[in-house]
Amino acid sequence: MNIHEYQGKEVLRSYNVAVPNGKVAYSVDEAVEAAKGLGSDVTVVKAQIHAGGRGKAGGVKIAKSLDDVRTYADELLGSTLVTHQTGPEGKEVKRLLIEEGCDIQKEYYIGLVLDRATSRVTMMGSEEGGTEIEEVAAATPEKIFREVVDPVVGLTPFQARRLAFNMNIPDALLGKAVKFMLGLYDVFVEKDCSIAEINPLVTTGDGQVMALDAKLNFDDNALYRQKEIADLRDLDEEDTKEIEASKYDLSYIALDGNIGCMVNGAGLAMATMDTIKHYGGEPANFLDVGGGATTEKVTEAFKIILSDSSVKGILVNIFGGIMRCDVIAEGVVEATKQVGLEIPLVVRLEGTNVQQGKEILDSSGLNIESSESMAEAAQKIVELVK
Ligand code: ADP
Ligand code: MG
Repeated sequence: MNIHEYQGKEVLRSYNVAVPNGKVAYSVDEAVEAAKGLGSDVTVVKAQIHAGGRGKAGGVKIAKSLDDVRTYADELLGSTLVTHQTGPEGKEVKRLLIEEGCDIQKEYYIGLVLDRATSRVTMMGSEEGGTEIEEVAAATPEKIFREVVDPVVGLTPFQARRLAFNMNIPDALLGKAVKFMLGLYDVFVEKDCSIAEINPLVTTGDGQVMALDAKLNFDDNALYRQKEIADLRDLDEEDTKEIEASKYDLSYIALDGNIGCMVNGAGLAMATMDTIKHYGGEPANFLDVGGGATTEKVTEAFKIILSDSSVKGILVNIFGGIMRCDVIAEGVVEATKQVGLEIPLVVRLEGTNVQQGKEILDSSGLNIESSESMAEAAQKIVELVK
């Protein structure tokens, strides 16, 4: 789960990790009030969307007066911001962070991730802050330094010091940088983060080390024990189809293609997507209806696929083990009756009650192509959506 920058900064603040003063605003008046409250000479108006790259896209404005704040807030709120992370459709700005302007001396990068290769939390740092870390990794990988953390000991002060030193943080500020890193590590572990990225971390004219941006992502599997974090979820920022799917406990991820897939089991779902791609098609989604799906669940899954206007054909690929083929068939028929079906549908069923399943589909009077094998099914649907 992702949260907004201003929420991330509140979490950091609660761990005494330095961030500038700031306040969220949902309207132009709130933005001006917030700026008055800050009383700083320079105020920064920052669009809050779940995507980075806002600076380059015009989503971070420097205001020198309250009038400026009003102008920028008015301009940003309700506008659609297109950054390299939002995709071409962009994201609508509904919240702003009104923040104290900071006298930046230098921008650095700090990121914490779980490194799957070592199965350990790793802190990365670089003196090349402000730009995309992917670009730094490609052009000057020697400028990224890593500290791998022993889970029993945690990030040690000497590791933080070594990293700060490697990042060329001025000697006088090493102590503050170390405090920052140790605090950030505590946030990462105690809040079950999957990513904590501070880009940029800055040193300031008055000798501070603070986070000017904050990207915190959380492990969905841990949200049950992170009530306060779970409450920060902003449904406006999420794909409506994915939200709907999560209500029915379906694993659904929207993709860019035009072939909707309904499959049971994550492995079979991945294999189905690969097979579609193999025959030159592009899946519109990943969807695992799970092992013990009911007719209701299948119906909902089908509706979610059909609600995606880019879907030009559907492939149902089910192996009936715990899940019975007749239940799937009933769900497919029920859903198509409820929402209508104007696009090609190919169904491949195998396993428990496959015969009954096929009979239900055949006698439904619906235009359904059934297939005997996965390869044949994939070829058919790819052909039909062309
Ligand atoms: P994004 O990563 O989405 O572009 P950032 O929060 O990193 O957004 O902001 C982009 C740039 O704007 C920063 O690299 C920094 O130079 C500037 N900036 C952001 N917040 C402030 C602030 N409070 N004071 C001064 N400059 C800021
Ligand atoms: Mg940033």
